[in-house]
Amino acid sequence: TTTVYYDEDADVSTIDDETVAVLGYGSQGHAHALNLHESGVDVIVGLREDSSSWADAEDAGLRVETPDVAAGEADRVVMLVPDTIQPAVYEAIEDELDAGDTLQFAHGFNIHYGQIEPPEDVDVTMVAPKSPGHLVRRTYERGEGTPGLIAVYQDATGNAKQESLAYAKGIGCTRAGVIETSFQEEVETDLFGEQAVLCGGVTEMVKAGFETLVDAGYAPEMAYFECLNELKLIVDLMYEGGHMGMWNSVSDTAEYGGLTRGEEVIDREGMEQILEEVQNGEFAREWINENQANRPAYKQYRDAEQNHQIEAVGENLRDLFAWGEDADAEKTEAPAD
Ligand code: NDP
Ligand code: MG
Ligand code: MG
Repeated sequence: TTTVYYDEDADVSTIDDETVAVLGYGSQGHAHALNLHESGVDVIVGLREDSSSWADAEDAGLRVETPDVAAGEADRVVMLVPDTIQPAVYEAIEDELDAGDTLQFAHGFNIHYGQIEPPEDVDVTMVAPKSPGHLVRRTYERGEGTPGLIAVYQDATGNAKQESLAYAKGIGCTRAGVIETSFQEEVETDLFGEQAVLCGGVTEMVKAGFETLVDAGYAPEMAYFECLNELKLIVDLMYEGGHMGMWNSVSDTAEYGGLTRGEEVIDREGMEQILEEVQNGEFAREWINENQANRPAYKQYRDAEQNHQIEAVGENLRDLFAWGEDADAEKTEAPAD
């Protein structure tokens, strides 16, 4: 079974003699920088001079420098700018990596696919909260944490793993639990998951279900509720109690129909193909080229998604009905007639 590391397995003092440069102050960057700072670690935020976040970081009590200056003073450089920007930012800080420094990531794409090639005498590690940055920050402030991953790609000092755990503790992750993985496993499972299941798979399934009903003459609003809105209720049940928790909560009719019919909409060969293109680097090459060409295909796919009927139907319905986290607030504001 997998080892899960908790607070007692890590010691922030392992890295409290370090200066940590957190490059980027976005979703992950602000959370790492503020949590580490409050855990007693010396943090410098690295931002480009015209960054809109510069003042935010300073107002929060953090020191801000350009990435090269921050990295120059740091023993640990944490890459928390968007993945597509990282190779360019790396070029600006490359010369600041001294022997024994650490280059740290929250996602392994650029290392695994060779877009960043660090020198052999630095540690290359990953500390990746399995959560959006605002939750990494919010849970820390409540004395809790979000689960996370650590991985060591290159261990020049022999301390890479203990220091990764110390950092994970500094941002609150060991309060929830941390597991160790490799860069390869993190990247390949992450890309496969977001393409085949989470982002790509789910949206295509919802669109196909919606279109099937609408093409058959049913009301788009009914199709929207059935195929998109109710998805959250089902996922919440799965999240809480696994598949059996969900099956136990729906009707026997839904359970029998789902168990006998679900498999029919899944293309296993398509999934294997997606995994293969992740593993052999074909997807990575395509995405790197797409970025170099200023994202022509990406823009087309986004436009098509934006113009799909389900977007207009959903926008309208979300305005007309109150539900979800804000439901109570919206209901009280609604005129009583
Ligand atoms: P964001 O998109 O939120 O990062 C934006 C930050 O990067 C801003 O501070 C922005 O500053 C800065 N930035 C953008 N371009 C540059 C540049 N050219 N030079 C310097 N700074 C720049 O990133 P995320 O937090 O989403 O992702 C960071 C890393 O964390 C990625 O590797 C991602 O895969 C990983 N990750 C993200 C998760 C998430 O929840 N978002 C979850 C787990 C991992 P400016 O004001 O200058 O634009
Ligand atoms: Mg240095
Ligand atoms: Mg991902």
